[in-house]
Amino acid sequence: MEFLAPADLGDAVAAKAAHPDAVPIMGGTDVMVELNFDRRRPELLLDLGRVPELREWDRDGDRIRLGAAVSYSRVIAELSGVLPGLAMASRTVGSPQIRNRGSIGGNLGAASPAGDAHPALLAAAAEVELTSVRGVRRVPIDDFFLGVKRHAGAPDELITAVWIGAATGPQQFSKVGTRNAMVIAVCSFGLALHPGSAQVRTGIGSAAPTPRRAAAAETFVNAALQDGNLWHSRDVLAESLLTEFARRVTAAAAPIDDVRGTADYRRRALGVLARRCLQWAWTDYRSGSVG
Ligand SMILES: Cc1cc2nc3c(=O)[nH]c(=O)nc-3n(C[C@H](O)[C@H](O)[C@H](O)COP(=O)(O)OP(=O)(O)OC[C@H]3O[C@@H](n4cnc5c(N)ncnc54)[C@H](O)[C@@H]3O)c2cc1C
Repeated sequence: MEFLAPADLGDAVAAKAAHPDAVPIMGGTDVMVELNFDRRRPELLLDLGRVPELREWDRDGDRIRLGAAVSYSRVIAELSGVLPGLAMASRTVGSPQIRNRGSIGGNLGAASPAGDAHPALLAAAAEVELTSVRGVRRVPIDDFFLGVKRHAGAPDELITAVWIGAATGPQQFSKVGTRNAMVIAVCSFGLALHPGSAQVRTGIGSAAPTPRRAAAAETFVNAALQDGNLWHSRDVLAESLLTEFARRVTAAAAPIDDVRGTADYRRRALGVLARRCLQWAWTDYRSGSVG
């Protein structure tokens, strides 16, 4: 196995153009598992660990540009005020060691239906920045996940960053697993309130072939909040609204039975998570807090 270790982004994208089959490696917390278990035996590894551009995050107006290699630990330590949903999701990932090595870009690269960053990124309307020698493009997160472990990046492209709006309202993330740490989600749910545009956005994890939004649930809750003048009045949400929202989130899932849980259990748990996340976020909104 050959190992390429470019020192900057220009060299990294040039290497990917010259070797489209090269497997990128950042924190290695997914790649090394695959190599150790002999699930993958690539001829070429492209180590991005020395590319400084991928490790930075920056603020451009109301949007954060999060370099692909930024770790979960740094999101928690440095960005929980502006990206509260992603920080909540990051706190549930693996163990301290995994959170130190594992990156948001690596989670996107793996494109697992169970990736914990994904529901938060869907709810926040993130965009994934892809770079190649042909140029830079941004793919809305809604269009990024194409199938189980498949994403919209081309063979010559690298994930270089994620663009996420700084939160303008409360965000929530919740995950069901067999224990509290070091566990792949049985199912998960992310939710963000966007008071400026009077929108609620959602993200479902580990309950469909790809992470996905619950579109009909969003349409329902957005109309109910608008019709009831609730963004303005900040009144308590009716039980019937929470129940119908949860029902529609459940209906948006397409879970399977597997070793982690049954499809029925996932549906049931997802409804509970959806209801709680909306309730928690709305309680924060009523008290005027973001996060
Ligand atoms: C013990 C353990 C516990 C874990 N717990 C969780 C958990 O709770 N939640 C969770 O979501 N995940 C978990 N994971 C999985 C993993 O830690 C995450 O997916 C992490 O975000 C991967 O980031 P990384 O930088 O280590 O990626 P890597 O392993 O380096 O790469 C992951 C994938 O992305 C590709 N890739 C890497 N960089 C790029 C790039 N710049 N452009 C294009 N493709 C790229 C790689 O080729 C590979 O396919 C766990 C893993 C382990 C070993």
